[in-house]
Order: sequence, then C-alpha cells, then structure tokens
Amino acid sequence: MNRILATHEDDMVAVIEPGVTQQMMKDHLKDRPLTIGYSLAPPHTSVFANALLGGLTNRSLKYGDQSDWIAGLEVVRHDGTLARIGSWALSDIPFGLVPFPGLTGLFVGWQGTTGIVTKIAFQLWPKHPLNRRLFILSYSARGTYRAMSRLCRTEICDDIGGLSWPSAKMMMGVAHPDPSPQPGEPIFFLYVDLTAETKAEMRAKEDILARVLDEVRAQGDRFEDPLDIHTLVRAQPQLSGFADFPTDLKFLTGHGGGGLSWIGTYGPMSRMIPAVEEGMALMTERGFPPLIVSRPMRGGHFIVFRLIVTFDKKNEEEVARVRSLNEELLELATRHGFIMYKTPIWAWRRLEERIDPGMRRLMRDVKAVMDPAGIFNPGKLGLP
Ligand SMILES: Cc1cc2nc3c(=O)[nH]c(=O)nc-3n(C[C@H](O)[C@H](O)[C@H](O)COP(=O)(O)OP(=O)(O)OC[C@H]3O[C@@H](n4cnc5c(N)ncnc54)[C@H](O)[C@@H]3O)c2cc1C
Repeated sequence: MNRILATHEDDMVAVIEPGVTQQMMKDHLKDRPLTIGYSLAPPHTSVFANALLGGLTNRSLKYGDQSDWIAGLEVVRHDGTLARIGSWALSDIPFGLVPFPGLTGLFVGWQGTTGIVTKIAFQLWPKHPLNRRLFILSYSARGTYRAMSRLCRTEICDDIGGLSWPSAKMMMGVAHPDPSPQPGEPIFFLYVDLTAETKAEMRAKEDILARVLDEVRAQGDRFEDPLDIHTLVRAQPQLSGFADFPTDLKFLTGHGGGGLSWIGTYGPMSRMIPAVEEGMALMTERGFPPLIVSRPMRGGHFIVFRLIVTFDKKNEEEVARVRSLNEELLELATRHGFIMYKTPIWAWRRLEERIDPGMRRLMRDVKAVMDPAGIFNPGKLGLP
C-alpha cells in the first residue's frame, strides 16, 4: 500500500496510502507548485505514520504538527467495515475535516490502538520561488531561545531550528565529541528558513531577522551574522545534509555503533531555557555529548525539545547507561512541563500515574467501543 492515489492541485490536497515515503512525495511534487514538510527522518520513512503520530517537520512552525494537515481519513474498524472521515464523507474532494464531527480524533495519536487507517487525505502547501536557509552561530542557550521566541512573533520564518554544538561536530566527522564544548566555541546554531515571492519580500524578511538579532544582542547575548547554507557547504561539504530535505543524517543513522535513541518531547516555549540548560548539564555529567534538536511549532505555541544519544549497540554497559540516561531525561523534561511524543511503552508506564485520571478513563472507554475484542495493538498507551 504505497500509492499516491490522487493529487488535487487546485485544492492543495493529496490522497496517500500508508507506505508512501517522504522521498516518494518529494519526487511526485517535483514539478508541481506544492510541497509537504519533511521531517529529519531518512527519506524512506512513512509520511502517513508520522501524520497519525503527530510528528514534526520543517513546515511545522507555519502549519503545526503533521496531524494538523490531515484533511480526511479512510479507516478499517474492528468489525472489518470501512469509514471515510471528514468532508470526504460527502464530497469527492477531501478539502478538510469540517463541518462534520472531528472523528479523526478517534485515530490520531492512538498509536494504532483503535483501528487501521488505510488512506489519508493530506494537505499540501505552496512552494515559493525564493528560498534561503541561514545558519546563525549562538554562544548561549538563553540567547538562542530568546531569538527563537522573538522570531516566531515576527511570522517571517517558514522554519526555525535550534541545534546544540555536538550536532555540528558530529556532522563534521567527530563521531564522539568530548561531552564539554571547547572554550570560546559556539553553543548552538539556529537555522532559519525564509521563503518569498519576490526579492523585495526576501530583503524585508532578512532585514527583520537582522533587527531581531540586534535586539537580542542588546540584551547581552552573542551571535554571529547569518551564513547561507550554500556558502557553508562550499566551505564544509560535510554540512550538505542540512542543505536539502528529506535527508539522511548519517552522523545519526550511519555512525558505526548502530545505536540511536532520544527523548523527544513537546512543551511550552516559556520553559525552554531552563529545560535545555539542565538537560545539557545532565547529559554532560553522564558522559554524553549534549545533543539537542529543537523547533518551535505552530507559530511558536509550543516547541520540540529532543535530547539525542548515539551509542554502540553491542556494548552492554553503554546500552545500560543510555537506558538510565533516558529515564533521567524523561523525568527532567516532564518536570518542566514537556511531554514525550510517540510515547513508547516504557515511558508511558513511568508517566501513567501522573496523567489526569479522567482522561485515562475516557481513553479506556473509547478503546472499549472502538476495539471491543482488543485486537488493535494491545498494550500500547497502557490500553488492553
Ligand atoms: C534519524 C531520524 C530522525 C527523525 N526525525 C524525525 C523528525 O524530525 N520528526 C518526526 O516526527 N519524526 C522523526 N523521526 C521518527 C520517524 O519519523 C518515524 O518515521 C516515525 O516515528 C514513524 O515511524 P515508525 O517506524 O515509528 O512507525 P511505525 O512503528 O510503523 O508506526 C508507529 C505507530 O503508528 C501506528 N500506525 C502505523 N501505521 C498505521 C496505520 N496504517 N493505521 C493505524 N495506525 C498505524 C503503529 O501501530 C504504531 O503504533 C526520526 C527518525 C530517525 C531515525
């Protein structure tokens, strides 16, 4: 089931099956004026699963997590019957979810525990002729997230990412950077995507970006001036993985040891600075380079806070250290109000008692109606 079944260009929506990958969508849209957002996952990963799980992409700042782009679903229910959800229940064009009841909520974020989704109507977004990706070196977590918050409010960026220093070193070929940064080195880099219809529009956005950086500098935070990704790649070809999406970040997926793990959370922008500072300190203390990837979502209403480790899968002692680090990082993030997304069972068990009991009861009641025989993914989300 890996077909792109329809593309309604004028309505900016495509109907896809579960096996459609990021690369397939990119190839399909190559000569069309439309795009999707791409996650940092490798090109062969499913767009569909990421949408059902509320994953994040490089257009999530503008348009929200990927589940926000679902304009209709076709689902197989526990009794084998099919249902079409959203405007698609009546119109041949799945233009949106309204005005019918929001029944996609019965399938989105449930990790396959309520039914099997067989088709998604997925919203597409306009491509613009002018695109710039700029990198800005920053010397503190505080300055990075102050600038990020301020930039969100200007609404000039299609995407903003904040990545800590180990990501740059690892991309440049240092597989195991020292857990502490070298004195004087930048602590973060911000990357900013700007798009425009005209040169004048792009210049205006660049001017606003420069003004925001000056404002934050005036508060005592240090930044370098923005560098275009193409200039950077000419000087450091190893950075080409950041030039075009989807991408396979080999420093994560092909580092030799085979182990890659992270605590990926969504949470409030207002808590980001203390959460990042504590998270980085804890990783360093435990002997891991503090690799953080973050991205504001949906206009800056919330943010992704992701703490990543690479390790040698065959080294049992290292695997145990990663497991214990992840437990500590989960606690740290939860304490700051961040919630692990795509929550694995081990993390769900640790969080369960703290989740509102009314919500847990409601989830069990919905599950009982949607899956009375318990055939869909039993055990996930603490459900029978
Ligand atoms: C290097 C790297 C970077 C990544 N970066 C990002 C990133 O930037 N953003 C991001 O969001 N993710 C990222 N990911 C995660 C990635 O996007 C995964 O593709 C995503 O988590 C879904 O794949 P999976 O293998 O977990 O899905 P699966 O395990 O196949 O599915 C996940 C869950 O969805 C349910 N499900 C799957 N298909 C259906 C269906 N048809 N109907 C009902 N339920 C279904 C399953 O039951 C399961 O519980 C990254 C991964 C890697 C390795």
